Amino acid sequence: MKATAPTPPVFHSDEARWDAVVRRDRAADGQFYYSVRTTGVYCRPSCASRRARRENVAFHTTQAAAEKAGFRPCRRCKPEQPSLDEQYAARIAKACRLIETSESAPSLATLAKAAGLSAYHFHRVFKAVTGVTPKAYASAHRTERTQTGLARRGSVTDAIYEAGFNSNAPFYSKADALLGMKPGEFRAGGKNAVIRFAVAQCSLGALLVAATDKGVCSILLGDDPEALVRDLQDRFERAQLIGGDAQFEQMVAKVVGFVEAPSIGLDLPLDIRGTAFQQRVWQALRKIPAGSTVSYADMAKRIGAPKAVRAVAQACAANAIAIAIPCHRVVRTDGNLSGYRWGIERKRTLLEREKAA
Ligand SMILES: [Zn+2]
Repeated sequence: MKATAPTPPVFHSDEARWDAVVRRDRAADGQFYYSVRTTGVYCRPSCASRRARRENVAFHTTQAAAEKAGFRPCRRCKPEQPSLDEQYAARIAKACRLIETSESAPSLATLAKAAGLSAYHFHRVFKAVTGVTPKAYASAHRTERTQTGLARRGSVTDAIYEAGFNSNAPFYSKADALLGMKPGEFRAGGKNAVIRFAVAQCSLGALLVAATDKGVCSILLGDDPEALVRDLQDRFERAQLIGGDAQFEQMVAKVVGFVEAPSIGLDLPLDIRGTAFQQRVWQALRKIPAGSTVSYADMAKRIGAPKAVRAVAQACAANAIAIAIPCHRVVRTDGNLSGYRWGIERKRTLLEREKAA
């Protein structure tokens, strides 16, 4: 079973491209460039310089094409260099590696120097990119290392890069700090499924991903990583829970990447467990495209049970696979967000992000 994957933003027409330029849409950066006849320069769509008149603007799919047409790179948005987001992501990834490879936590000054930023600026950018402070990142790493006693493995930063962020794609990740959970058998009772899991930190807080050999069976969101693990234990009381390995962390990185940038899409096999009615509702949820919402009443109609609005709402609330089964896309008939088992603020953030994508 595959979750539906929204397509990345595509700019098919000059009208759509111009619209992106007018909105200074950062998601359009890298997709195309625009040149201005009167100044002789070309820019990224998000360039902050004064808006050119439409009749002087032409679009180019690559930098090379813009230069071939006789335009030079704008000095403000520097379209010939990696975007600011990409530069920051690379600098912060460097600092993360330094933390990961150091025996004792490097000082803020050391990290800032390695990243080529002032201490103040570094701290701010680090938090914006990873979702946690450098100190929290370092202590999470230490905890993980002592808890597991495992040899250091590929960092989550690597996994996020491998999961689909490359230098050409806008780098949105606000999360690459994996908070290590102790691998081990929490409950050996029963001969049921083996469930692998890992907890990561993302811009929505803590995120737990668990999977059987068939696919993802839980994606949980919350403030407290330990509470999420307890929740997982309660849901799968008789399963054998074990910590995820490096390969598993890549899957977690995929989910985190999707949370941060819904336009990337999420293509993961799911292992959906529930009553027949719940399954009908959840399958219908997966058909709601990213960026749109439906009401509970609509959902009831869609599954052919128009009177079962309450039961539909209950099934939405019972969904254990946040995001991949997008119960956050169901709202009240009046457009109010209504409830979300992982917090109304998270629902709001997810919907805003999908709209903007
Ligand atoms: Zn520019």
